Amino acid sequence: MSGTLIIGGGQAALSAAAELRKHRYDRPITMLTDEAVAPYQRPPLSKAYLSGELSRDRLWLKPAAWYQNAGINLRTAVHITALDRGACDVIAHTGERIGYDTLILAMGGQARRLPVPGTNLDRVHVLRTLAETETLSAAFHEARSIIIIGAGYIGLEVAASARKRGMAVTVLEAAARPMARTASALVGGWFGAIHRGYGVDLRVNTPVKAIVGDEKATGVELDDGEMIEADLVLVAAGLSVNDGLAATAGLACEDGIVVDHQARTEDGNIYAIGDVARFHSRLYDRSLRLESVQNAVDQARVAARAICGQAVDYDPVPWFWSDQYEMKLQITGLIEGADERVRRGDPEEGRFALFHLRDGVMIACEAINSVPEYRAAQHMIATGARPAPDRLRNPGVAMKTFLP
Ligand SMILES: Cc1cc2nc3c(=O)[nH]c(=O)nc-3n(C[C@H](O)[C@H](O)[C@H](O)COP(=O)(O)OP(=O)(O)OC[C@H]3O[C@@H](n4cnc5c(N)ncnc54)[C@H](O)[C@@H]3O)c2cc1C
Repeated sequence: MSGTLIIGGGQAALSAAAELRKHRYDRPITMLTDEAVAPYQRPPLSKAYLSGELSRDRLWLKPAAWYQNAGINLRTAVHITALDRGACDVIAHTGERIGYDTLILAMGGQARRLPVPGTNLDRVHVLRTLAETETLSAAFHEARSIIIIGAGYIGLEVAASARKRGMAVTVLEAAARPMARTASALVGGWFGAIHRGYGVDLRVNTPVKAIVGDEKATGVELDDGEMIEADLVLVAAGLSVNDGLAATAGLACEDGIVVDHQARTEDGNIYAIGDVARFHSRLYDRSLRLESVQNAVDQARVAARAICGQAVDYDPVPWFWSDQYEMKLQITGLIEGADERVRRGDPEEGRFALFHLRDGVMIACEAINSVPEYRAAQHMIATGARPAPDRLRNPGVAMKTFLP
């Protein structure tokens, strides 16, 4: 009766269940999530859903009837507290033991807390789940100003959504530029200028010392002693990976559960996928833990196929997108290690791409409102192409000429 048990109710968990059924897996599938709702899309939470442009019913990854039709036993509000590998059981917060033949760990992560005083005050928010988004969105109704701590994608997307809702927005970033972890100086700086143009008070090199207020947050104190007031504070400081359950059960974890190219952990019956998994990329010759929808979907497919006896290797060209105002940023590949950068298009026109090459080989591309450039770059990265920089930067040379 056991079949496959999936811990998690996010994109990776849902994709694994769907892919198992697609490959005619006929054993029971149970999905356990500690959220109160069925799997939904996270990307709109900081974008169209928060700005009020997308309704709640558009968030669901599958309609309610799909689970029953596909024979997926979805159980919500079940938090798994332990994994007993010897007995092939997981243990729920209620003490219930649930058995498995195959286990898929798809626990993702949660919003990282800041190690500063005041994060537990009322009116201090984080944004990872639908419930957290709805709490923040409700607070928007009464608030006129927000301080966002962190100028990564989520912080900046919330800044854009809050400006659309007419709020005064301050963004405080400790690093020297926005999106410092994943975007280049050119692209991070360009987005910073766009936000300032929309009236955001965006400050870099600005660490926060404390969130201040009695019971309710009323603002923040900066490292240099300056106080900034606001009605709300959002901490957008990245993700803290949910690998504790696996680590306690003795599975190798290094900021993520270590898996092989079929998403299998060192325990042959246990897989890990999505934001929670760390794998070795042959393409970049380094270990990666990716936080993107693409990774959640594609790694889930690989795990499901391995469970169905059809092993395929996972070695993706990573890609990610972010929507801020009318700007669509698409990043493919990893920019670290580039020794040459080639720009195509004019940042002043709001449409350009920055290609990153190493030893002449295309390794990444940041594309702003430039879909053909992004697509061609993705192909070039996958094939190890060595495009001539002069042709790349020449807008007269169509991107399709870089494709086979
Ligand atoms: C606001 C926001 C915007 C984003 N925007 C983009 C974007 O534009 N483009 C993009 O590519 N990616 C974006 N991402 C990232 C993307 O959404 C994630 O990479 C993807 O959703 C990861 O899916 P996952 O299933 O691996 O993990 P998660 O979505 O984190 O799902 C994990 C699930 O497991 C549950 N869980 C965890 N522990 C337990 C437990 N012990 N017991 C039971 N259940 C448990 C969690 O509650 C959760 O439901 C965004 C993320 C956020 C939060």
